[in-house]
Amino acid sequence: MNQQLPLIIAIDGPAASGKSTLGKRLADDFGYLFFDTGVMYRAVTWAVLQAGIEVGEEAAVTALAEGVQIDVASPSKEDGRACDVLLDGQDITWEIRRPEVDGNVSPVSAFAGVRKALLEKQRRIGLRGRVVMVGRDIGTVVLPEADVKIYLFASAEERARRRYNEIVARGEPADYDEILRKVKTRDQIDSTRAIAPLRPADDAILLDSDALNFEQVVEKAKEYCHK
Ligand code: C5P
Repeated sequence: MNQQLPLIIAIDGPAASGKSTLGKRLADDFGYLFFDTGVMYRAVTWAVLQAGIEVGEEAAVTALAEGVQIDVASPSKEDGRACDVLLDGQDITWEIRRPEVDGNVSPVSAFAGVRKALLEKQRRIGLRGRVVMVGRDIGTVVLPEADVKIYLFASAEERARRRYNEIVARGEPADYDEILRKVKTRDQIDSTRAIAPLRPADDAILLDSDALNFEQVVEKAKEYCHK
């Protein structure tokens, strides 16, 4: 039934560009695995903070990334999660969304040893096929052989506005200017780091979600997948 569909779909883009929502939707509609690589970097960052390790301590952070077991599994609860994230067996699905993780994940992700520790696992999962993998470097580094590569982006202001609305909808306090500042900082670190920086692959399709609503983004992405 899905013979014409690409086996490996890579989606990259900056923070809060809607990659995960798009990826989850495509995976559900195609009957594929949805794998959000950002949760792995977030899990390592959470473990670093829990252990009281200074995020700038490259050797200690890398050793921790090499030593922890991160599992991403189908959702075990219906509480809005796209998947379960387990660190050494502990469910940390919501902990990794905390502001202190947001604020520290980019420097942790910039370390070569951290990336190396996670890359192999991501590739193994991706190469099984029938997968939508989402991140910053999927089309460029993790799965350069992906059949379809989508680079989803939007202005920092639009992305901050969406993040703000999500937080407010959860009934939590939010400060738009603070969110915008953090989004910009994360973009800056992610796109200027030496290893696997955020950038579109040469053969990626660029999708500007500023100009499109979510259903239009899904429609465009599906058009590319059916080509
Ligand atoms: O996508 P998300 O915002 O959850 O990603 C959190 C952080 O993890 C990013 O800001 C980036 O620093 C890092 N990341 C990465 N490479 C990926 C996915 C995420 O460096 N493939």
